[in-house]
Amino acid sequence: MKQEIFGLPLEELQALLAELGMKRFRAAQVYDWLYRKGVFDFDAMTNLGKSERERLAASLTVLPWEIGVLRRLDSSDGLTSKLLLRLTDGNTIETVLMHHDYGYSVCVSSQAGCDMHCAFCASGLNGAVRNLTLAEIVAQVYFFNAVLFPRGERVSRVVVMGSGEPMLNFDNVFGALQFLHRPDTANMSYRNMTVSTCGIIPGMERMARLGLPISLAVSLHAVRPELRTELMPVNKAYPFPAVLQAAEAYAAASGRQVTYEYILLAGKNDSETDARLLAEYMRYKHASVNLIPVNPVPEKGFFRPAPRQIDRFLRILERNHVTATVRKEMGQDINAACGQLRAAYAKQEEPTCL
Ligand code: SAH
Repeated sequence: MKQEIFGLPLEELQALLAELGMKRFRAAQVYDWLYRKGVFDFDAMTNLGKSERERLAASLTVLPWEIGVLRRLDSSDGLTSKLLLRLTDGNTIETVLMHHDYGYSVCVSSQAGCDMHCAFCASGLNGAVRNLTLAEIVAQVYFFNAVLFPRGERVSRVVVMGSGEPMLNFDNVFGALQFLHRPDTANMSYRNMTVSTCGIIPGMERMARLGLPISLAVSLHAVRPELRTELMPVNKAYPFPAVLQAAEAYAAASGRQVTYEYILLAGKNDSETDARLLAEYMRYKHASVNLIPVNPVPEKGFFRPAPRQIDRFLRILERNHVTATVRKEMGQDINAACGQLRAAYAKQEEPTCL
């Protein structure tokens, strides 16, 4: 078995190369190829001697080199690309690259599958499979960096908003973000990282204790208790008012504004009463609300409200001095709701746009 090196701290790579009888500075060179140039093939690391490259390839592997791209979908506007990746154990995950006016951001998955069973979400259709490793999370960013680096560009933002619940894979998710922050890797600012949770309070408290200025997003989706429990069973274990308190505590500890995600589901949570209730909770909070017209999941029978209804909801929030936006449609034509491509693949169906 070859040793996997992607995501290792430099010191550990130095130790591994020393075991192979190589000089210490070689590790920094390999590090530079991997994380500053996005080159994963030892044979292309041309400032190493041929015999050294062969020695490395004989005993070490680099994860992104081993991961397969099963599907790649590009939106018609050219701004969003979605990859369905095949991990080394055969599991599949989705990763999305978005091109905004401020640069590139990647939406990464934290688990293969999900166990939260939110009613509107496709990620859990086949249940949770396993936590992703630190390397698998970092690799999702580097898949795109490998293409962007040669063009003088790079991924500048990461949102942990793909499949899975990041707080249930805390060490690997935050380990990956800390790895991406290193000056000798992606040198990414914590302020450009966001972690989205369905409201796992102990995880939110742990995140506050880390003391890093990472943004927190909370998936709210309903404020009436019985409706939130119907849509998000996790509300039984961690009910909404307590989640709000934990999020407020995070905002206070980190100085970062919390974003609340609210999926708009026609006839479910999009009434004027819902909007007013939401506004009451959000008023005077260091927070903003992101309204997300649902990406319909046929299996679940959820539909998107009419634009007029969305507008009315937004205006009620604004009238009550709540900062709110409607999520910009990106990649709608490539089925960008996380989990949908994977679910379609698992059923051996073609995604709608192919
Ligand atoms: N488990 C975390 C992160 C993954 S979900 C969380 O719950 O926040 C990322 C976001 O996508 C969540 O806000 C989730 O509710 C939303 N989402 C899931 N299914 C969706 C759908 N069909 N349409 C729009 N957004 C969806």
